[in-house]
Amino acid sequence: MTYQHIDDHGKPIALPVNKVVCIGRNYLDHINEMNSTISEAPLLFMKPKAAMCNIANDIAIPTTLGPCHNELEVSVLLKKGLKNASEQEAAEAIWGIGLGLDLTLREVQGALKKDGQPWERAKSFDNSAPLSQFIPIDAFGDLDDLKFTLTINNEVRQSGHTALMLHKIIPLIAHMSTIFTLDAGDVVLTGTPKGVGPLFEGDILSISLHDYFTLETKVTGE
Ligand code: ZN
Repeated sequence: MTYQHIDDHGKPIALPVNKVVCIGRNYLDHINEMNSTISEAPLLFMKPKAAMCNIANDIAIPTTLGPCHNELEVSVLLKKGLKNASEQEAAEAIWGIGLGLDLTLREVQGALKKDGQPWERAKSFDNSAPLSQFIPIDAFGDLDDLKFTLTINNEVRQSGHTALMLHKIIPLIAHMSTIFTLDAGDVVLTGTPKGVGPLFEGDILSISLHDYFTLETKVTGE
């Protein structure tokens, strides 16, 4: 199924589908659970167009490459291109906010890290970025005060608060635009809090951006 960004009424948003730009290690509790270290400059990576899919459909995870972990993250949809943007320009370029999963093949990632190789095999495969609907930016006040939760089979797995980000949403987008030109229709994934773990076929996920939406979805194999 061809992916399109959708709004809170389930309607397609008139923006192209481009790339996903992601940050790793943006919450201290997740850095600690991974025994990682804080990166001085933000750790950035990308997912291609084919990584995006609608999270409300079944989530098809790879089944032959070891554990596939959940990482629930606040997602930001851009409506304007950005290059070397100021924070004000970055703020004005946001179409809306949602949630996304940065699906991660954890054993593959471990092997890549050990070898000093890039992470694409672990994080940038097809359908590795299931995305929710986007709520228009006007509905939001302080982006540094958003709470979000992932429950799996009725147990809370992740509970995040954007106040705890090391690199907050607006300055992060401005910084990203100094490394990569960002385009209208790009999505930014803003990092995962702690609580990553393996997904299994049949798992029921409930994903909530507090005060905005809650949706349910299911994990299937490929
Ligand atoms: Zn992530």
